[in-house]
Amino acid sequence: MTKIKHNYVWLAIVILSLVPALLWLLSPSLLPRLGSLRAVMSDLGQLAGLIGMALFSFSLILSARFRFLDKYFKGLNNVYAKHSLIGQVAFVLLLFHPLLLLFKYAGGSFSGAMLFLSLSSNWPKNWGWLALVLMISLIVLTLYLKPKYNIWKWTHKFLGLSFFFASLHVFLIPSDVSRYAPLRFYMLSLSFLALAVFAYRTLFGKYLIKKYKYTVSAVKSLNDNVLEVIMKPQGRKLDFNPGQFIFVSFLDSKVGQESHPFSISSGPSDGELKITAKVLGDYTEKLANLSPGTTAEVEGPFGFFSHKNSIYNNQIWIAGGIGITPFLSMAKSLLDNSDYSIDLFYCLKNESESVYLDWLKNINPKLRVHLFCYDKSGYINIDIINNIAGSLSEKDIFICAPPVMIGSLKKQFIGRGIDKKLIHSEEFNF
Ligand SMILES: Cc1cc2nc3c(=O)[nH]c(=O)nc-3n(C[C@H](O)[C@H](O)[C@H](O)COP(=O)(O)OP(=O)(O)OC[C@H]3O[C@@H](n4cnc5c(N)ncnc54)[C@H](O)[C@@H]3O)c2cc1C
Repeated sequence: MTKIKHNYVWLAIVILSLVPALLWLLSPSLLPRLGSLRAVMSDLGQLAGLIGMALFSFSLILSARFRFLDKYFKGLNNVYAKHSLIGQVAFVLLLFHPLLLLFKYAGGSFSGAMLFLSLSSNWPKNWGWLALVLMISLIVLTLYLKPKYNIWKWTHKFLGLSFFFASLHVFLIPSDVSRYAPLRFYMLSLSFLALAVFAYRTLFGKYLIKKYKYTVSAVKSLNDNVLEVIMKPQGRKLDFNPGQFIFVSFLDSKVGQESHPFSISSGPSDGELKITAKVLGDYTEKLANLSPGTTAEVEGPFGFFSHKNSIYNNQIWIAGGIGITPFLSMAKSLLDNSDYSIDLFYCLKNESESVYLDWLKNINPKLRVHLFCYDKSGYINIDIINNIAGSLSEKDIFICAPPVMIGSLKKQFIGRGIDKKLIHSEEFNF
C-alpha cells in the first residue's frame, strides 16, 4: 500500500524560477534606475526575460523523461503536463521581454522601434531575436498547424536550439546578468544544466539512456485491429509494477526505429514481456510486419497507474477499448496476491473488439468482469457502475480510457462526493 505523499518538487521549481528576480532585486545597479516610467517598463522587461529563461530551463529539464520525476509527479503524463504549462508561461514572459524593453530602446520613435526590432551587427541581441522567432514558429506549429505526431515530436526538439540561442543572448548582452556575478552564476548554472539535459536526452540519448534489450519471439493478431508483441529478455529483465508502461523501439526497418509508449500487458513475474497494440496510425499499422528475432529496445518502466498505488483493496477498474492493457498486467498479478476485490468494467463498442475476455473472466474469483457494449447499452455511467459494483465508498477507482470518457466519469464520481485521491486515470496520450 503506497501512502500518497505531497509533491514538493513542483514548489521547488516555482521558487527556483523566481530566484533570478530576487537576485536581480539585490543587484547594486537597481535603485538608480527606478526613476522614470520608461526605466520601470524596461526593468519589468528584464525581469520577464530572467524568469522566462529560468522557466524555459525547467521546461527543458522536465521534458527529459527522467524516471525520478515520473515517480515524484506520480506519472510521466503529469510531468509532461507541468512541462507544457511552464513552457507556455515561459513563452508569454519571453514575448513580453522585448515588448517591454521597447519602451527604453525605441526612444519613443517608430524608427527607434524598428531599429530595436531588426537584426543588426549586434549579435548578442540577434541571438535573442533568433531564439524568439524560432520559439514562436514552433509554438504556432504546435497550436495551429497541428502536424502528424511524429513530425510534431521531431520539430519540438528545436526548442532546445531556441534555448541555446537564448542562452547566448543572456550571457553575451550587456545587462544585469553581465554586471552582477551572483545573478550571472545562477543563470549560467540553470542554462548549463538545461542544455546538458537536452543533450543527454535529445542529442546523445541513443548512446546514454539505459535501455533493456529484448528479442521479439512472436507477434499475434488478437482481432482485426489489435495485435500483441511478445518479447524475451536478452539480458536483465525489466522490473515493473503492474499497470506501468514502457517506451519501445524495434530495430527493424520494416517498422521504423521510433520509440512509442505502450502499457505492459504481461505480469511482472512472467518470463516474457508483452505489449498489446491497437492499430491507430502509421506506426501501429506497421507493427504487424515485425518478424520474430527482431531486437527491441525498452526504456522504462514509467507511470504510477497501478492497483498497488492505492488506499483500498476494494477497487473498481474501468477500461475503455484498448485501455484494457494495463489491467491485463494488474489482473495477472492478482494471481500472486488475492487480497483485492475488484469489479472490472470492460467497455467496448461491441464484443468483437474485446481481447482476453474469457481469460479475464476466469483468472481470479476476486476479479468480477462486466463486459459493457455501448452499441447495445449506451455509455456507461456512475449509476450503472453503482448498481453492479454496489457501494462506491472506500474503493479506489482506476480508469484507462479515451480522454472524453475519463473526463466524464471523473466528473460523475467527484459529483457523487468521491475523493479525487481515490480516482486514478491513465490516458494513452501525453
Ligand atoms: C502511457 C501510454 C500508454 C499507452 N499504451 C498503449 C497500449 O497499451 N496499447 C495501444 O494500442 N496504445 C497505447 N498507447 C498509445 C500508443 O502509443 C499510440 O497509439 C501509438 O504511439 C500510435 O502511433 P501511430 O504512429 O500508429 O499513430 P499516430 O497517428 O502517429 O498517433 C496517434 C496518437 O498516438 C500518440 N502517439 C503517437 N506516437 C507517439 C509517441 N511516439 N509517443 C507518445 N504518443 C504517441 C499521439 O497522441 C498521437 O496523436 C499508449 C500511449 C501512452 C501515452
